[in-house]
Amino acid sequence: MSIKAQKGTKDILPEEITNWQNIEKIAYEVFSKANFKEIRTPIFEDTALFERGVGDTTDIVNKEMYTFTKSDRSITLRPENTAGVVRAYLEHSFYRESPPIKFWYKGPMFRYERPQAGRQRQFHQIGVEMFGVEDASADVECIVLATEFLKGLGLNDLVVEINSLGCSVCRKEYKEQLKKAIAPFLSGLCEDCRNRYEKNPLRILDCKNETCNKLFEENHLKESVSGIKLCNDCATHYEKLKSYLDALNIKYVENTFLVRGLDYYTRTVFEIKSNNLGSQNAVCGGGRYDGLVETLGGPHTPAVGWAMGVERLNALIPKLEAPKIDYFVVSDNQVEAIKLVDKLRKNGFFAEFDYTSRKFAKQLEKAAKIANYAIILGEDEIRNNYLTIKNLSDSTQKKQTFDELVINN
Ligand SMILES: [Zn+2]
Ligand SMILES: [Zn+2]
Repeated sequence: MSIKAQKGTKDILPEEITNWQNIEKIAYEVFSKANFKEIRTPIFEDTALFERGVGDTTDIVNKEMYTFTKSDRSITLRPENTAGVVRAYLEHSFYRESPPIKFWYKGPMFRYERPQAGRQRQFHQIGVEMFGVEDASADVECIVLATEFLKGLGLNDLVVEINSLGCSVCRKEYKEQLKKAIAPFLSGLCEDCRNRYEKNPLRILDCKNETCNKLFEENHLKESVSGIKLCNDCATHYEKLKSYLDALNIKYVENTFLVRGLDYYTRTVFEIKSNNLGSQNAVCGGGRYDGLVETLGGPHTPAVGWAMGVERLNALIPKLEAPKIDYFVVSDNQVEAIKLVDKLRKNGFFAEFDYTSRKFAKQLEKAAKIANYAIILGEDEIRNNYLTIKNLSDSTQKKQTFDELVINN
């Protein structure tokens, strides 16, 4: 029996890779312009990093982590990258440098979930993290970076949803208010919601369970809780965020029910939805996490960031054709063919030849599939030192020396 790729994992084949490379190229260009630097952290980390950094009331930590033991150490494949970036930030003492410290990353993440369309167990994220700025200008910088990146990919019909979760001070009262409103129908909610009720009632608003959502509606949960009453500092921060977004002409919708699935967010949370392909799809989620660096043992450091799923982006953008190479050398003289291809490559062209010396007709068939031009190198061409160049889109031919070919291009 042949071995197959694991459930929830996928080979990214050469025919799909152009899209991936294009997404990564645009990410690099957009983020570099704003002086964000790429960081690559390890794929596995100490399990405690995620328990502390992602939060032990999250689905990710409770159900979805790939955890194993090696030499008595508990190790986990990263389910997200913020915790790893914060660990690196601390380990290399970036907090000693003058803020802001701005990172972006790309790479595979791992979550043990039921695979479905657009959701895999090994999936890929691109994200940014910005450390050291308390002011809402950092939140806006991250949001702009996300919208510019999405626009670069051709996703123009974007909706930015924002909310403020406040700080632990202003959240305390809201949690009580929320618990009071939920208490009468708590027993009808899913097991997750019942578990979250004491530990993190805010997360109940994030439940995707249909029964729960129906109960929220029937009991008018949304109307009965007014939203978080922000303390003065948090309210000022939120007002500033909105004024910056206005100044940049970024349209946004306030959604007091936006809570995000991770425990570490404080103040600003946001989601960006795209209306491409008719239906609305959330493509980006993020927020501020002013307490996380401290939770992981560092000094108090305000921070904000977001992540996007690359598979999801890919589903929304058109499939790009792989670019063709410039020249395919058609010849039955292997030595001359290999020499010509070498010279072409050294002059900056993308070139290949047929390694088998089959009939010219067969070689030309292959050339038409992968190249813009065929260079025919037959006996006459070799003897008289010229090349026959065939344009494979219109089948016109011309004769040129190698030097002419280089000059004309
Ligand atoms: Zn507050
Ligand atoms: Zn629920």
